[in-house]
Amino acid sequence: MREHNGTAIGSLPSPRADARWMNDLERERTEGPRLPQQAERDTQAGNSTNAVHGGTYCDPTTGAVGTPIFQTSTFLLHDTSYRAFFEGVTRDVAIYTRYGNPSQWSVQEKIAVLEGAQSALVTSSGMAAISTTVIALTNPGGHIITGYDVYGGTYNLMREDMHALGREVSFIDTTDLAAVAAAIRPETQMLLVEGLTNPLLKAPPLPQLAKLAAEHNILLVVDNTFLTPTCLRPLEVGAHVVVHSATKYLNGHSDLTAGVVAGSRKFVDRIWAQGLRLGGTLEPFSCFLLERGLKTLAVRMRAHNENAAGIAAALARHPRVTAVHHPSLPDYPYPHVREYASGFGGMVSFEVAGGDAAALATMQALRIPRVATSLGGVESLVSMPFNTSHSSLTRAQRAAAGIGEGLIRYSAGIEDLPDLINDLYAALEQGAACATD
Ligand code: PLP
Repeated sequence: MREHNGTAIGSLPSPRADARWMNDLERERTEGPRLPQQAERDTQAGNSTNAVHGGTYCDPTTGAVGTPIFQTSTFLLHDTSYRAFFEGVTRDVAIYTRYGNPSQWSVQEKIAVLEGAQSALVTSSGMAAISTTVIALTNPGGHIITGYDVYGGTYNLMREDMHALGREVSFIDTTDLAAVAAAIRPETQMLLVEGLTNPLLKAPPLPQLAKLAAEHNILLVVDNTFLTPTCLRPLEVGAHVVVHSATKYLNGHSDLTAGVVAGSRKFVDRIWAQGLRLGGTLEPFSCFLLERGLKTLAVRMRAHNENAAGIAAALARHPRVTAVHHPSLPDYPYPHVREYASGFGGMVSFEVAGGDAAALATMQALRIPRVATSLGGVESLVSMPFNTSHSSLTRAQRAAAGIGEGLIRYSAGIEDLPDLINDLYAALEQGAACATD
């Protein structure tokens, strides 16, 4: 109830108790937001064409070939804006940049067409995309199922904040369909999984999870950061909403922090409304950078896919490498991913004989990749889970999570594959010498 001068000025109805009512909404909604100056969607075109042309704003005054940067926080009010307030459709009109800005709409359209989504939303980081989505599409009293091995930031959000917000969370092995089915409760509202997990590249069986979610009226949200829409379009295999850390492959140049949500408009509108309150909007210059990065997504992903698969095959032949995790290898334990993904991205992880010390020496001997966390940039990056993402776990906990001794995570960039392999082989020899010193 709001108070004004000590007097109650009205009481608000509480939000509907069960967020799943949204599943039953059938009202027709339009694509977008999209301005008439933006390129029409071409659903017949391929990924490379859509990555270049999708959503571009064609400036009628200057004929500029690329989308201009609308570096403004606010817009002149006019009849259309006032009408939008009255009709509750402020997402489609330029009013204030936290609500929407043509720089956002342009890059959102590109992402929507790539993901095969009715609508998309850009946010200030991948975590803003995930937290806003989870809060928008669940409600107090609801239950969420997610992986025990999801990205650390997502895990911490689920572990540290959801209980205070009235949501319960079950952490399970999302590659195990029976475990997911067993975790479902009457109040389960969301199943949140990653297309490929970090750092072991496990693949939850997405089509079967989508079927299970549909049977129980649960929303399936897929973090598609590792695969991108050029390798996997989760909405086509039955997911309701896709989220990304656009900081990674979508932008692709390790120079921007951003996030993305895509799905049908009824879900994205609701996430947008939640985002207005939480505030994780993407400012116009970052939209320009993201749109520019996205233009080369398809060609970059071809190079990332080839390099990671080539590195995985080369590592599997090396005597100092005791395990390699990559979906292209014959002994990969989740071969079903090959049925619905057309590539596996640039990540590969591997274990070096001699444990963490030998692996550390190997990593430090590498000349091409930079030692840094993050992934998905044009430059190769390398790090070890034991002293970064999984440093808070004990050795035994790491072993239980499948993080073997000497595990290195390699984000293959777009450099020449022979250079990357020669560098790895030289570093493995040098690492072996250090380990035996
Ligand atoms: N999802 C995955 C799979 C990630 O790897 C990351 C970051 O590493 C995130 C989400 C969070 O993204 P951001 O760092 O852009 O907030």
